[in-house]
Amino acid sequence: MDTRSPGPAPHRDYTPDELNERMDACRVEPRVQEYLNQCIAFHTFPAPGLLIGAFMVDFALELLGAWPGEKLFAVCETPKCAPDALQVIAHCTYGNNRLRIVDVGRFAITVNRASDAATTEGVRVYVDTQKLAQFSTIYSWFTNGPEFNKKTMNNQLFDEIFSAGWRILSCERVRVNVEGKKKWASVTCPKCGEMVPDYSVDQDGRCISCGSKSYYQKIAEV
Ligand SMILES: [Zn+2]
Repeated sequence: MDTRSPGPAPHRDYTPDELNERMDACRVEPRVQEYLNQCIAFHTFPAPGLLIGAFMVDFALELLGAWPGEKLFAVCETPKCAPDALQVIAHCTYGNNRLRIVDVGRFAITVNRASDAATTEGVRVYVDTQKLAQFSTIYSWFTNGPEFNKKTMNNQLFDEIFSAGWRILSCERVRVNVEGKKKWASVTCPKCGEMVPDYSVDQDGRCISCGSKSYYQKIAEV
């Protein structure tokens, strides 16, 4: 007979149902719960930055008095996770050109309405380091601290994110530059023979994919 006492159950992350139960328990509003679930489905897993991003977008919409169907423009200051919250909730997507990623490494977003002027007012929402002091697990994760153990602390982190909601965020009103549509002409690259906009051509006349932005070597024509 095996007399060894069973060790602690191995950690596993919350199931989708458990995540929803935790959202209820942490009093996440139904509107935001729906956003969170839509974001998780799109992103394929509940990344902590995605969840915080969903609260950020919700906060920005509230500050603007906007609803998710409105035509909005956004800048995300990190390529990590948060862009998906803007894409899913605010429909500012990479493809519709209403999402710009300015990779400066801050966990922040700016959202504004459409404007014909050169600049317009928007709201900027960011994770406020001072406010994180009250949320030690989020702080450890956010600062990539050695004490944060992804294998055992994820559920604790989810709970803190759901409880914190907007409380780790701060906002400011900002004036942002409006990027007009670029005029362009079509050019055929002399190397690959494919057509590109003239702003995607290097000085030697080749498309940037055949030049400075090359990312593959051809193996074979198929
Ligand atoms: Zn080319």
